Amino acid sequence: MSPDRLLEIASVAELVRRRAEWEAEGRRVGLVPTMGFLHEGHLELMRRLRQRCDTLLVSIFVNPSQFGHGEDLAAYPRDPVRDAELCASVGVDALFLPAPEEVYPPGFDTWIHPGMAGERACGPWRPGHFRGVLTVVYRLFHWVRPQVSIFGRKDAQQLWLIRRMARDMGLEHRIEEGPLVRDPDGLAMSSRNIYLQPEEREAALALPRTLQALAREIAAGGNPQQLLAEAWQRLRSEKLLQPQYLELVDWQDFRQLQEGETLPQDLVLLGAVKAGKARLIDNVFLRKGREVEI
Ligand code: AMP
Repeated sequence: MSPDRLLEIASVAELVRRRAEWEAEGRRVGLVPTMGFLHEGHLELMRRLRQRCDTLLVSIFVNPSQFGHGEDLAAYPRDPVRDAELCASVGVDALFLPAPEEVYPPGFDTWIHPGMAGERACGPWRPGHFRGVLTVVYRLFHWVRPQVSIFGRKDAQQLWLIRRMARDMGLEHRIEEGPLVRDPDGLAMSSRNIYLQPEEREAALALPRTLQALAREIAAGGNPQQLLAEAWQRLRSEKLLQPQYLELVDWQDFRQLQEGETLPQDLVLLGAVKAGKARLIDNVFLRKGREVEI
Protein backbone atom coordinates (compact mmCIF):
# COMPACT_ATOMS: atom_id res chain seq x y z
CA MET A 1 0.00 0.00 0.00
CA SER A 2 1.38 3.45 -0.85
CA PRO A 3 1.10 6.40 1.54
CA ASP A 4 -1.41 8.09 -0.79
CA ARG A 5 -3.85 5.25 -0.14
CA LEU A 6 -3.71 5.95 3.55
CA LEU A 7 -6.77 7.85 4.70
CA GLU A 8 -5.78 10.82 6.87
CA ILE A 9 -8.46 12.01 9.26
CA ALA A 10 -7.89 15.34 10.99
CA SER A 11 -11.16 16.03 12.79
CA VAL A 12 -13.33 14.22 15.30
CA ALA A 13 -16.38 14.91 13.10
CA GLU A 14 -14.77 13.11 10.16
CA LEU A 15 -13.63 10.25 12.39
CA VAL A 16 -17.16 9.73 13.68
CA ARG A 17 -18.54 9.86 10.11
CA ARG A 18 -16.00 7.31 8.87
CA ARG A 19 -16.68 5.09 11.86
CA ALA A 20 -20.38 5.01 10.97
CA GLU A 21 -19.49 3.98 7.39
CA TRP A 22 -17.22 1.17 8.61
CA GLU A 23 -19.99 -0.01 10.89
CA ALA A 24 -22.53 0.03 8.04
CA GLU A 25 -20.10 -2.07 5.99
CA GLY A 26 -19.78 -4.53 8.90
CA ARG A 27 -16.08 -3.89 9.28
CA ARG A 28 -14.23 -4.85 12.45
CA VAL A 29 -12.22 -1.81 13.56
CA GLY A 30 -8.82 -2.03 15.28
CA LEU A 31 -7.16 0.93 17.02
CA VAL A 32 -3.47 1.56 17.80
CA PRO A 33 -3.04 4.79 19.82
CA THR A 34 0.43 6.39 19.54
CA MET A 35 2.25 9.68 19.93
CA GLY A 36 4.05 9.22 16.60
CA PHE A 37 7.77 9.27 15.74
CA LEU A 38 7.17 5.62 15.08
CA HIS A 39 9.64 2.78 15.59
CA GLU A 40 9.61 -1.03 15.45
CA GLY A 41 7.76 -1.26 18.79
CA HIS A 42 4.81 0.66 17.30
CA LEU A 43 5.00 -1.23 13.98
CA GLU A 44 4.87 -4.57 15.79
CA LEU A 45 1.60 -3.50 17.44
CA MET A 46 0.21 -2.57 14.02
CA ARG A 47 1.28 -5.86 12.41
CA ARG A 48 -0.35 -7.83 15.20
CA LEU A 49 -3.61 -5.91 15.02
CA ARG A 50 -3.64 -6.08 11.21
CA GLN A 51 -4.41 -9.80 11.60
CA ARG A 52 -7.37 -9.13 13.90
CA CYS A 53 -9.41 -6.43 12.19
CA ASP A 54 -10.73 -5.22 8.81
CA THR A 55 -10.04 -1.51 9.24
CA LEU A 56 -6.80 -0.69 11.04
CA LEU A 57 -6.76 2.84 12.47
CA VAL A 58 -3.67 4.41 14.04
CA SER A 59 -3.94 7.62 16.03
CA ILE A 60 -0.98 9.97 16.29
CA PHE A 61 -1.45 12.59 18.96
CA VAL A 62 1.17 14.10 21.24
CA ASN A 63 -1.19 14.45 24.15
CA PRO A 64 -0.41 17.67 26.07
CA SER A 65 -2.30 16.59 29.19
CA GLN A 66 0.03 13.67 29.89
CA PHE A 67 3.12 15.90 30.04
CA GLY A 68 3.96 17.57 33.34
CA HIS A 69 5.50 21.00 33.88
CA GLY A 70 9.13 20.94 32.75
CA GLU A 71 8.63 17.78 30.67
CA ASP A 72 9.40 17.52 26.96
CA LEU A 73 6.05 18.40 25.30
CA ALA A 74 7.51 21.10 23.02
CA ALA A 75 10.63 19.05 22.20
CA TYR A 76 8.83 15.72 21.69
CA PRO A 77 10.12 14.39 18.34
CA ARG A 78 7.73 14.46 15.38
CA ASP A 79 8.01 13.21 11.78
CA PRO A 80 4.53 12.94 10.27
CA VAL A 81 5.68 12.18 6.70
CA ARG A 82 7.87 9.26 7.74
CA ASP A 83 5.17 8.06 10.17
CA ALA A 84 2.62 7.92 7.32
CA GLU A 85 5.04 5.94 5.15
CA LEU A 86 5.75 3.47 7.95
CA CYS A 87 2.03 3.04 8.65
CA ALA A 88 1.34 2.37 4.96
CA SER A 89 4.18 -0.17 4.87
CA VAL A 90 2.47 -2.36 7.49
CA GLY A 91 -1.02 -2.08 5.98
CA VAL A 92 -2.63 0.61 8.12
CA ASP A 93 -5.88 1.86 6.54
CA ALA A 94 -6.38 5.18 8.29
CA LEU A 95 -4.52 7.69 10.43
CA PHE A 96 -6.22 9.94 12.95
CA LEU A 97 -4.14 13.10 13.44
CA PRO A 98 -6.18 15.48 15.55
CA ALA A 99 -5.08 18.97 16.59
CA PRO A 100 -5.03 19.55 20.37
CA GLU A 101 -8.18 21.73 20.13
CA GLU A 102 -10.06 18.80 18.60
CA VAL A 103 -9.29 16.61 21.57
CA TYR A 104 -9.52 19.36 24.19
CA PRO A 105 -12.01 21.99 23.04
CA PRO A 106 -12.06 25.27 25.00
CA GLY A 107 -13.44 24.71 28.49
CA PHE A 108 -12.74 20.97 28.50
CA ASP A 109 -12.42 19.99 32.18
CA THR A 110 -13.54 16.43 32.83
CA TRP A 111 -10.91 13.82 33.57
CA ILE A 112 -10.43 10.12 34.22
CA HIS A 113 -8.28 9.52 37.30
CA PRO A 114 -6.57 6.19 37.94
CA GLY A 115 -6.99 4.48 41.30
CA MET A 116 -4.23 3.24 43.63
CA ALA A 117 -2.34 1.46 40.85
CA GLY A 118 -1.67 4.86 39.30
CA GLU A 119 0.17 5.93 42.43
CA ARG A 120 2.90 3.31 42.22
CA ALA A 121 5.95 3.10 39.89
CA CYS A 122 5.76 6.09 37.50
CA GLY A 123 2.87 7.70 39.38
CA PRO A 124 4.84 9.77 41.93
CA TRP A 125 7.41 10.77 39.30
CA ARG A 126 4.87 12.05 36.79
CA PRO A 127 1.96 13.63 38.67
CA GLY A 128 -1.09 13.84 36.43
CA HIS A 129 0.49 11.72 33.69
CA PHE A 130 -1.89 8.77 33.88
CA ARG A 131 -4.87 11.10 34.26
CA GLY A 132 -3.88 12.57 30.87
CA VAL A 133 -3.30 9.14 29.32
CA LEU A 134 -6.58 7.65 30.56
CA THR A 135 -8.60 10.69 29.52
CA VAL A 136 -7.24 10.73 25.97
CA VAL A 137 -7.57 6.95 25.57
CA TYR A 138 -11.13 7.09 26.94
CA ARG A 139 -11.99 9.72 24.36
CA LEU A 140 -10.37 7.71 21.54
CA PHE A 141 -12.30 4.60 22.60
CA HIS A 142 -15.50 6.65 22.70
CA TRP A 143 -15.06 8.06 19.18
CA VAL A 144 -13.58 4.99 17.49
CA ARG A 145 -15.54 2.28 19.37
CA PRO A 146 -12.93 -0.27 18.28
CA GLN A 147 -13.67 -3.98 18.41
CA VAL A 148 -10.02 -4.45 19.29
CA SER A 149 -7.14 -2.21 20.37
CA ILE A 150 -3.53 -2.88 21.28
CA PHE A 151 -0.98 -1.42 23.70
CA GLY A 152 2.67 -2.31 24.28
CA ARG A 153 4.05 -4.09 27.32
CA LYS A 154 6.84 -1.52 27.24
CA ASP A 155 4.43 0.74 29.14
CA ALA A 156 3.25 -1.99 31.48
CA GLN A 157 1.64 0.27 34.07
CA GLN A 158 -0.19 2.18 31.33
CA LEU A 159 -1.43 -1.09 29.80
CA TRP A 160 -2.70 -2.26 33.19
CA LEU A 161 -4.45 1.05 33.93
CA ILE A 162 -6.09 1.20 30.50
CA ARG A 163 -7.47 -2.33 30.88
CA ARG A 164 -8.81 -1.46 34.32
CA MET A 165 -10.33 1.78 33.04
CA ALA A 166 -12.05 -0.04 30.16
CA ARG A 167 -13.48 -2.54 32.62
CA ASP A 168 -14.53 0.03 35.20
CA MET A 169 -16.07 2.45 32.69
CA GLY A 170 -17.87 -0.26 30.74
CA LEU A 171 -15.91 0.32 27.52
CA GLU A 172 -15.09 -3.31 27.13
CA HIS A 173 -13.64 -4.50 23.89
CA ARG A 174 -10.69 -6.76 23.32
CA ILE A 175 -7.47 -5.05 24.50
CA GLU A 176 -4.44 -6.91 23.17
CA GLU A 177 -0.87 -6.47 24.34
CA GLY A 178 2.25 -6.33 22.19
CA PRO A 179 5.75 -7.48 23.18
CA LEU A 180 8.40 -5.05 24.39
CA VAL A 181 10.63 -4.43 21.36
CA ARG A 182 14.31 -3.71 22.02
CA ASP A 183 17.18 -2.35 19.95
CA PRO A 184 19.97 -4.87 19.29
CA ASP A 185 21.96 -3.52 22.27
CA GLY A 186 19.02 -4.36 24.58
CA LEU A 187 17.63 -0.86 25.18
CA ALA A 188 13.82 -0.74 24.99
CA MET A 189 12.84 1.18 21.87
CA SER A 190 11.40 4.59 22.64
CA SER A 191 10.79 7.77 20.66
CA ARG A 192 12.76 9.50 23.44
CA ASN A 193 15.95 7.49 22.84
CA ILE A 194 17.05 10.14 20.33
CA TYR A 195 17.70 12.47 23.26
CA LEU A 196 20.55 10.20 24.43
CA GLN A 197 24.20 11.06 23.86
CA PRO A 198 26.29 7.95 23.01
CA GLU A 199 27.78 7.72 26.52
CA GLU A 200 24.33 8.16 28.09
CA ARG A 201 22.96 5.40 25.91
CA GLU A 202 25.77 3.08 27.02
CA ALA A 203 25.04 3.91 30.67
CA ALA A 204 21.27 3.48 30.13
CA LEU A 205 21.84 -0.20 29.25
CA ALA A 206 22.30 -0.75 32.98
CA LEU A 207 18.50 -0.50 33.32
CA PRO A 208 17.55 -3.53 31.15
CA ARG A 209 20.59 -5.45 32.39
CA THR A 210 19.68 -4.84 36.03
CA LEU A 211 16.02 -5.82 35.49
CA GLN A 212 16.92 -8.94 33.56
CA ALA A 213 19.52 -10.10 36.10
CA LEU A 214 17.05 -9.43 38.94
CA ALA A 215 14.33 -11.40 37.18
CA ARG A 216 16.64 -14.39 36.79
CA GLU A 217 17.71 -14.23 40.43
CA ILE A 218 14.11 -14.01 41.64
CA ALA A 219 13.11 -16.83 39.29
CA ALA A 220 15.93 -18.89 40.80
CA GLY A 221 14.37 -18.49 44.25
CA GLY A 222 16.30 -15.51 45.70
CA ASN A 223 14.78 -13.14 48.24
CA PRO A 224 13.07 -10.45 46.13
CA GLN A 225 13.32 -7.60 48.67
CA GLN A 226 17.00 -8.20 49.30
CA LEU A 227 17.76 -8.56 45.59
CA LEU A 228 15.82 -5.37 44.82
CA ALA A 229 17.79 -3.44 47.45
CA GLU A 230 21.11 -4.69 46.07
CA ALA A 231 20.11 -3.96 42.47
CA TRP A 232 19.01 -0.47 43.49
CA GLN A 233 22.44 0.24 44.96
CA ARG A 234 24.14 -0.99 41.79
CA LEU A 235 21.93 1.18 39.61
CA ARG A 236 22.58 4.19 41.84
CA SER A 237 26.32 3.79 41.39
CA GLU A 238 26.00 4.38 37.60
CA LYS A 239 27.52 7.85 37.05
CA LEU A 240 25.34 9.08 34.19
CA LEU A 241 22.05 7.74 35.53
CA GLN A 242 19.52 9.06 37.99
CA PRO A 243 17.42 6.04 38.92
CA GLN A 244 13.82 6.79 39.92
CA TYR A 245 12.46 3.44 41.05
CA LEU A 246 12.74 -0.34 40.88
CA GLU A 247 9.52 -2.11 41.84
CA LEU A 248 8.15 -5.62 41.85
CA VAL A 249 4.38 -5.80 41.44
CA ASP A 250 1.73 -8.49 41.17
CA TRP A 251 0.40 -8.26 37.59
CA GLN A 252 -3.10 -9.26 38.73
CA ASP A 253 -3.76 -6.18 40.83
CA PHE A 254 -0.67 -4.03 40.31
CA ARG A 255 0.05 -4.24 44.04
CA GLN A 256 3.59 -4.01 45.37
CA LEU A 257 4.87 -7.25 46.87
CA GLN A 258 5.36 -7.31 50.64
CA GLU A 259 8.35 -8.73 52.48
CA GLY A 260 8.06 -12.50 52.86
CA GLU A 261 4.99 -12.79 50.62
CA THR A 262 4.68 -15.91 48.48
CA LEU A 263 5.37 -15.00 44.87
CA PRO A 264 2.21 -14.75 42.77
CA GLN A 265 2.00 -16.42 39.34
CA ASP A 266 2.35 -13.25 37.27
CA LEU A 267 4.82 -10.61 38.30
CA VAL A 268 6.36 -7.59 36.68
CA LEU A 269 9.60 -5.91 37.59
CA LEU A 270 9.56 -2.24 36.65
CA GLY A 271 12.23 0.42 36.58
CA ALA A 272 12.82 4.01 35.47
CA VAL A 273 15.94 6.14 35.15
CA LYS A 274 16.85 9.55 33.83
CA ALA A 275 19.85 9.70 31.53
CA GLY A 276 20.63 13.22 30.35
CA LYS A 277 17.43 14.65 28.87
CA ALA A 278 15.74 11.26 28.49
CA ARG A 279 13.54 9.55 31.03
CA LEU A 280 13.57 5.82 30.29
CA ILE A 281 11.32 3.06 31.56
CA ASP A 282 11.68 -0.68 31.19
CA ASN A 283 10.27 -3.88 32.66
CA VAL A 284 10.52 -7.64 32.70
CA PHE A 285 7.65 -10.06 33.15
CA LEU A 286 7.86 -13.19 35.24
CA ARG A 287 5.05 -15.49 34.31
CA LYS A 288 3.73 -18.99 34.89
CA GLY A 289 5.95 -20.88 37.26
CA ARG A 290 8.41 -17.97 37.44
CA GLU A 291 9.56 -18.39 33.85
CA VAL A 292 11.27 -15.19 32.74
CA GLU A 293 9.89 -13.51 29.64
CA ILE A 294 12.29 -10.97 28.23
P1 AMP B 1 3.84 6.06 22.49
O1 AMP B 1 3.93 6.52 21.08
O2 AMP B 1 5.13 6.10 23.22
O3 AMP B 1 2.70 6.71 23.24
O4 AMP B 1 3.47 4.52 22.42
C1 AMP B 1 2.35 4.06 21.70
C2 AMP B 1 2.18 2.59 21.93
O5 AMP B 1 3.37 1.91 21.52
C3 AMP B 1 1.97 2.21 23.41
O6 AMP B 1 1.03 1.16 23.50
C4 AMP B 1 3.35 1.77 23.83
O7 AMP B 1 3.33 0.86 24.90
C5 AMP B 1 3.85 1.11 22.58
N1 AMP B 1 5.30 1.04 22.56
C6 AMP B 1 6.19 2.07 22.67
N2 AMP B 1 7.46 1.60 22.66
C7 AMP B 1 7.39 0.26 22.56
C8 AMP B 1 8.35 -0.79 22.52
N3 AMP B 1 9.66 -0.55 22.58
N4 AMP B 1 7.89 -2.05 22.42
C9 AMP B 1 6.57 -2.29 22.35
N5 AMP B 1 5.62 -1.37 22.38
C10 AMP B 1 6.01 -0.09 22.49
